[in-house]
Amino acid sequence: MAIAKDTVVQFHYTLKDADGSVIESSHGNDPMAYLHGHGNIIPGLEEEMVGKEAGAEFVATVSPEKAYGQRDETAIQRIPAKHLQGAKKWKKGMVAHVETDQGPRQVTVIKVGKFMIDVDANHPFAGKELTFEVKIEDVREATAEEVQHGHAHGLGGHQH
Ligand code: ZN
Repeated sequence: MAIAKDTVVQFHYTLKDADGSVIESSHGNDPMAYLHGHGNIIPGLEEEMVGKEAGAEFVATVSPEKAYGQRDETAIQRIPAKHLQGAKKWKKGMVAHVETDQGPRQVTVIKVGKFMIDVDANHPFAGKELTFEVKIEDVREATAEEVQHGHAHGLGGHQH
């Protein structure tokens, strides 16, 4: 069966940046599962999935516009260290949680001062062209419940 709206897709992937360095990979873990056609994965990858069947292997290179967007330089801010949650001592590159008016957000620490810390609230992949090496493991019809929930259940999907 081919990937189309309201199918559940299981796939393995290796994600590389423009230099070819591996950023993350599902290999060694369960495959990732998603409900197709509901915006559950980045748009550029979802587009490439259409029509593929179990066993298909392909490489998709996705521009920032169809991945995590361009970087927003105004998202770099200096905030009091006490507002960062997740660790006692901070170092450059660590990921922290910050409560904002829009709810909790993940930020990346870029510079540590005594009382103030510079953080970057951009998604770590913002502004990056991403290359996915994909192998489709399984494609099946979604259940009515999955379509209603808007996500995949079971292996690699939502557990609840
Ligand atoms: Zn559900």
